[in-house]
Amino acid sequence: MMEKQNIDWANIGFGYMPIGERFVANYKDGKWDEGNMTADTTITISECAGVLQYAQTCFEGMKAYTTCDGRIVVFRPDLNGQRMEDSCKRLEMPVFPKEKFVEAVCNVVKANADYVPPYGTGATLYIRPYMFGSGPVIGVKPSAEYQFRVFTTPVGPYFKGGAKPITIKVSDFDRAAPHGTGHIKAGLNYAMSLHAIVTAHAEGFDENMYLDAATRTKVEETGGANFIFVTKDNKVVTPKSNSILPSITRRSLMYVAEHYLGLEVEEREVYFDEVKDFAECGLCGTAAVISPVGKINDHGKEICFPSGMDEMGPITKKLYDTLTGIQMGRIEAPEGWIKEIK
Ligand SMILES: *Cc1c(COP(=O)(O)O)cnc(C)c1O
Repeated sequence: MMEKQNIDWANIGFGYMPIGERFVANYKDGKWDEGNMTADTTITISECAGVLQYAQTCFEGMKAYTTCDGRIVVFRPDLNGQRMEDSCKRLEMPVFPKEKFVEAVCNVVKANADYVPPYGTGATLYIRPYMFGSGPVIGVKPSAEYQFRVFTTPVGPYFKGGAKPITIKVSDFDRAAPHGTGHIKAGLNYAMSLHAIVTAHAEGFDENMYLDAATRTKVEETGGANFIFVTKDNKVVTPKSNSILPSITRRSLMYVAEHYLGLEVEEREVYFDEVKDFAECGLCGTAAVISPVGKINDHGKEICFPSGMDEMGPITKKLYDTLTGIQMGRIEAPEGWIKEIK
């Protein structure tokens, strides 16, 4: 076993740290090259690259963990590979095949195994695969050349000293149009969300709740996490919409709710009007797994969940403990969820 880096794992934040090796592959003349590992943290591209002019780029986000028995694992990377294929197709970018995607992710984690934080520190190795148009375009069209990269960076525990419930606001901005790009992991979705999140923070809120752009009556998601709600009779409900990004964490939590906790689950349209009747609310994504929501502010009107502002609701907690238990190897995983790096 490789010696770990001498880092104060529990106290590193959630930021970029340029470390070790990354994978780079280039697409040119209609095909991907073999790709290679490099220690170079910089990229040189045309001043007229598609990504710089017309934001032709998409990405993924996932983590490598050290399990309780000291193995290094990645959680469901095949789903990230599939989602990236879907993103590429919608953005007229060449697909990087999901099998090759998983292979590249595993190779980068392996090359940086000394940076995968030890079990029990709460820290993880964040993995960022992404692709961008690298060839020049001035007329609006897809680039002819692309680069696919995978880098990793160690990140600290998302919640230091336990997950405290957050307060969110109903946003006056829209995240995604009905037939737009909300369902893919495109950089452009984040570019246009920055003003909304900076505004929300300035007003004292942690996050935005976006409603459906067409009717402003249904719950969509936040800037980077899907919603799950728990009804007063312990049913787990998540919004269904074509403009929500299909979170792998959310899909996994719904499976865990049904098959590990024996709860009833529903993926359906959720009207904002019903939200006040739920018992618990959480935001789910790779970074935090679940962030409990204690309060929603709708233009000055507050919805306070019975779970309160001090701790996660009881069902949210069970979901959190079970999924993190699966990721950390304390609880047996469903077939195919855990990819061990050897
Ligand atoms: C990445 C992302 C999520 C979370 O997805 P996970 O696969 O669970 O990490 C949710 N919403 C948006 C908009 C995202 O970009």
